[in-house]
Amino acid sequence: MLDTLAIRTQRTNASRIAERDATPLEFGKVFSDHMFLAEYRGGEWHNAQILPYGDLPVSPANSALHYGQAIFEGMKAYPTEGGGVALFRPLDNWARLNASAERMCMPAVPEELFMQGLKELVRLDANWLPQVSGGALYIRPFMFATDGMLGVRPSETYLFAIITCPVDVYYSKPLRVRFEQKYVRSAEGGAGFAKNAGNYGAAMYPTKLAQQEGYNQLIWTDASEHQYVEESGTMNIMFIIDGKIITPSLSTSILDGITRRSVLQLARDMGVAVEERRVSSREVIGALQAGTLQEAFGVGTAATIAPIAVIGHEGHDYEIPTAGPDALSKRIGAALGAIRNGQAPDPYGWVVPVGE
Ligand SMILES: *Cc1c(COP(=O)(O)O)cnc(C)c1O
Repeated sequence: MLDTLAIRTQRTNASRIAERDATPLEFGKVFSDHMFLAEYRGGEWHNAQILPYGDLPVSPANSALHYGQAIFEGMKAYPTEGGGVALFRPLDNWARLNASAERMCMPAVPEELFMQGLKELVRLDANWLPQVSGGALYIRPFMFATDGMLGVRPSETYLFAIITCPVDVYYSKPLRVRFEQKYVRSAEGGAGFAKNAGNYGAAMYPTKLAQQEGYNQLIWTDASEHQYVEESGTMNIMFIIDGKIITPSLSTSILDGITRRSVLQLARDMGVAVEERRVSSREVIGALQAGTLQEAFGVGTAATIAPIAVIGHEGHDYEIPTAGPDALSKRIGAALGAIRNGQAPDPYGWVVPVGE
């Protein structure tokens, strides 16, 4: 499916690295010097190349723009102990990209194309990794249809690309969130498990309404009863009730987060009880009122673990006690960070160095 693995590289002769040190470093605004591209046509991937970051020409009839065949991934490269750079569970991102592709009738990206493009690009722009605590290179692989044709059918041509941006700590303050019980992010049988662009576009309006009320994000609930917790914003969500981690079980309407997987694994390894099951807004509010809800947090690549300070429900704001340094979320977050940075053993082979 791949005509050649040789990646042609055209380096920039005008690095924009000074942009990296702009303060504050706003998430997703400054991009590293290079990007990776590969084109799909005639049933094969062609023309894998790395070139200076820049605009892409598209047809006005581009079918991704009209019908939304567009998917993406989100991952990070982290600095490691010995001064190297490593990816975290990149094969999980590769597999999820292809699961999203299948749902959207798009072609699979071969493992070598994904991994080699990723590693070469990150190696080339490794100097963009901010030398600050919590600094990382956020990596955005994505694929979109490129047919210039208005027929509603899967495109025959696609572009797969990877861009990267330097980031520091994502959320500074604990989040204010509220249950959303009118609008829906995704329904059972829909495409909520896929990282496809349309999911995010449809979430913006209800999110904007919540932000006008002073919340940062929503807690999405299920599409049929508006009762069962799904996710928070673009993160998976976890509650600690009576010392147990409770998180919604995966379904076609929930994104299978790699941070979620990693946090649950580390929690189980620490001997913490984990329940993946349905969890209702009533249960969460009941636990808040009974004082048994110890922590609530979002989990995702951008923030890793984002503590929730306030949950709004039916016009009422409920406060969650501040997580101290010994809180479970902090201990799990620290364990995850230590594996990522090479300070702790990596029993599951999650850390993949990009090489010299
Ligand atoms: C990407 C994403 C997540 C988190 O996935 P990670 O692999 O942990 O970054 C959760 N929910 C949604 C809707 C997402 O898009």
